[in-house]
Amino acid sequence: MADDTRPPQDASAPGDLRKELERYKIVVAELQRKIKGMEAQLSTATTMAEMPQVIVTKPKLHETLQRFIRKVAMISQAEKAAIMLYSPEDGELTVLPPALGLTTEQVKFFRVRATEGVTGQVFREGAPTVFNDAVRDERTIKDNVAFLNVRNGVCVPLIIKKRDEEDRVVEQRTIGVLHVFNKRMGMDFNEEDLRLLQMLAEQCAAIISNAQLYIQLSEEKEELEETLQSLKAGVIAINGEGEVRLVNSAAATILGGAAPDFVGRAFQEVIKEERLKRVLDDALQAKDEVSHEISLGEGRETRHFQAQASIMRGDNGGVQHVVAILNDITDIRNVERMKTAFVSTVSHELRTPLTSIKGFIATLLEDEEGYFDDSTRREFYEIIDQQCDRLTRLISDLLNISRIESGRSLDLHLTRVNVVDVCSRIISAQQSYTDRHRLRLEAADSFPGIVCDQDKLEQILDNLLGNAIKYSPDGGEVKLALFDEGESVRMDVSDQGLGIPERHRDRIFERFHMVDDDVDHRSVKGTGIGLYLVKALAQAHRNVNGATGDVWLAHSVVDEGSTFSVRLPKEAVEGRAQA
Ligand code: ADP
Repeated sequence: MADDTRPPQDASAPGDLRKELERYKIVVAELQRKIKGMEAQLSTATTMAEMPQVIVTKPKLHETLQRFIRKVAMISQAEKAAIMLYSPEDGELTVLPPALGLTTEQVKFFRVRATEGVTGQVFREGAPTVFNDAVRDERTIKDNVAFLNVRNGVCVPLIIKKRDEEDRVVEQRTIGVLHVFNKRMGMDFNEEDLRLLQMLAEQCAAIISNAQLYIQLSEEKEELEETLQSLKAGVIAINGEGEVRLVNSAAATILGGAAPDFVGRAFQEVIKEERLKRVLDDALQAKDEVSHEISLGEGRETRHFQAQASIMRGDNGGVQHVVAILNDITDIRNVERMKTAFVSTVSHELRTPLTSIKGFIATLLEDEEGYFDDSTRREFYEIIDQQCDRLTRLISDLLNISRIESGRSLDLHLTRVNVVDVCSRIISAQQSYTDRHRLRLEAADSFPGIVCDQDKLEQILDNLLGNAIKYSPDGGEVKLALFDEGESVRMDVSDQGLGIPERHRDRIFERFHMVDDDVDHRSVKGTGIGLYLVKALAQAHRNVNGATGDVWLAHSVVDEGSTFSVRLPKEAVEGRAQA
């Protein structure tokens, strides 16, 4: 113990006694100050020991800082404490929550430019400071002093220090400022407070900066993982020893399992598909990129994949990872197959009416003797006329498809159309092709006219009624019912035919899609473009509010019949309507 803290030895005279008493008081005060200092240092040391070195999540950082800020306030006997971090983007220091003694609003709006105030000065100069008269101190920003109700304070820079092996600082960077405000019981802050806060600030800066780095890294990792998992393509990664390191969920589904079934095991053991194994093995052995088309599954379940395996090399040039990507190209292959079938169907569909037209014209030309009477000749002309219509319809379907496929919009020629008249005309035309079906129109007497492209409306109805007849080989009733829905009209086409099996219902509006796995459907000639086209024609109609037309399968029961519904806006407008 130092000399001045020694208790007095001898005291006899009253004057001496008073002096001694005074000395005692000083000694006691000094001892109390030392004890407090030691307590504070102990508390600082415990705070530092309690602060974890590596924090990897935001909640954990928040929790740690909360404890830290409480201790800081306790040690310095401050009413308020806050950490402010510098953001280079806006050149400002803002509060990193949690703060102590500040309202949510104060935390949110308290910000200081790095060029201003005590905070700015401490940040720029990297040196701590005490101010004990916030209102009069010319360095303080008076708006902030009033906003936070600050009387006095200590500001300490948060400096990250990089040290070498001998603990010498080799690099340092200031990331923000630690603040305490308003010493309790109206006291002033002193050099001791400043020294203790400085000790804490260095530790705090390191923790914040490490945590931010870790949090950023783990967020980036999570993002990457999520992206990988959400990829539609399957991704499989194996290391140089052939151990599976990663399988995203698409790949797990393709391989028929869950990711944990594969990860950490030899790919030769866990991947059953020989062709896929070969792709991975080829890449591993040949140490080069390999690309193969592989088919997995059997029969109708077969799916086609483009499997592409790439090599990732380590620093020593050796194969570190092989990453295989499985792209599902089943739909592309199906469309290609359907396109080929389509070309042959269309050629057939074009040749049939042409053969018939040629046949009847040749017969008429050869009849030089006038063998056929007028009514027979008229019948022949009517057949030729019908076959020409059939050809025209098919060609206009093909032209429309090619417009849609090339990304061009379908031009609308809008006029006011009497829907009932158009429907009646189409019903009688369609009725003339069949005597096995009874075609019927059902509409209210006062059914409204609409603004639409009449030609397109006719194509829509022709297709739907044509299908209703085609796919009811045993005949029956075909009904076209009209409904006024206010802003739009709906047309329901119902038949009593084959119906559509459940598994095809979502797909019949896709181009070239035909119900081809059912004998009855297969025996009906089709091209698979009718409904695709009907959808495009209906959707080309839209009103000023952006509501578009549409077509959908409303109801279907196999062997009982189907109902298709079309909706068109009552007042279609040209071009793209404002949504
Ligand atoms: P297609 O030229 O083959 O008739 P669509 O696109 O018009 O082409 O129809 C697609 C498929 O939907 C058809 O091949 C048929 O299997 C089925 N389909 C369409 N309309 C009906 C219906 N009214 N009843 C039963 N099946 C239908």
